[in-house]
Amino acid sequence: MIDFHAHLDLYPDPSSVIQRCTELGIYVLSVTTTPTAWERTSALASGLPRIRTALGLHPQLAQQRKHELALFRELIGKTQYIGEVGLDGGPDCKPFWNDQLDVFHEVLEHCSRSGGKILTIHSRRAASEVLKCLRAYPSAGIPILHWFTGSHKELRDAIDFGCWFSIGPAMLSSAKSREQIAMMPHDRVLTESDGPFTQHEGHPLYPWDANRALDGLATIWSKSTSEMKIELHQNLKRLGTSVLEK
Ligand SMILES: [Zn+2]
Repeated sequence: MIDFHAHLDLYPDPSSVIQRCTELGIYVLSVTTTPTAWERTSALASGLPRIRTALGLHPQLAQQRKHELALFRELIGKTQYIGEVGLDGGPDCKPFWNDQLDVFHEVLEHCSRSGGKILTIHSRRAASEVLKCLRAYPSAGIPILHWFTGSHKELRDAIDFGCWFSIGPAMLSSAKSREQIAMMPHDRVLTESDGPFTQHEGHPLYPWDANRALDGLATIWSKSTSEMKIELHQNLKRLGTSVLEK
């Protein structure tokens, strides 16, 4: 089982969620929204090789937490995983668009300088702008667009650029997303929950809920669920190896 985008530190009881993840053997990318949260969140998964903690500065917090870029720079050498980072073009975030751009550019610059990272990227209503930034820093690493909601054209551009995608159960309930998933390269896809932000029937999703995307993916790509599972694990392994090779 793979959950490549979960906010473990934001569950009311992170330890019990982590314990369950360990029992189930789930591979989790535990993302953070501020550099300040990284050390504490990383400590939650200490000694657990299947849980990696990504260093992030969420675009929705860009204005408020821009000053934490200094800490971001200090911590970047401690992890190969970056996120949640990116841009948000929603009406609530547009007023501080320039702060978002400053933060994302600086994040990508640090990733490039440190030899490239694996990045989990937020691109709500900003996929073209995210791609523009990524093109400016081709050595930043491997970008994984989490919960992609851009246009078909933006998707084609992201695929051409070499982006990966992480897909949660919520994406599979949208006809447009299902169409787009069919276009995505099978060897650049992983599953995610985006819990606890993402909810289903009033309850937050947990990392093990990422697995609910498997059946949907299998149907779209005309494979069996077990074939799907094997492919996704191969993808994860290749992604991990790409980091180790650096
Ligand atoms: Zn998220």
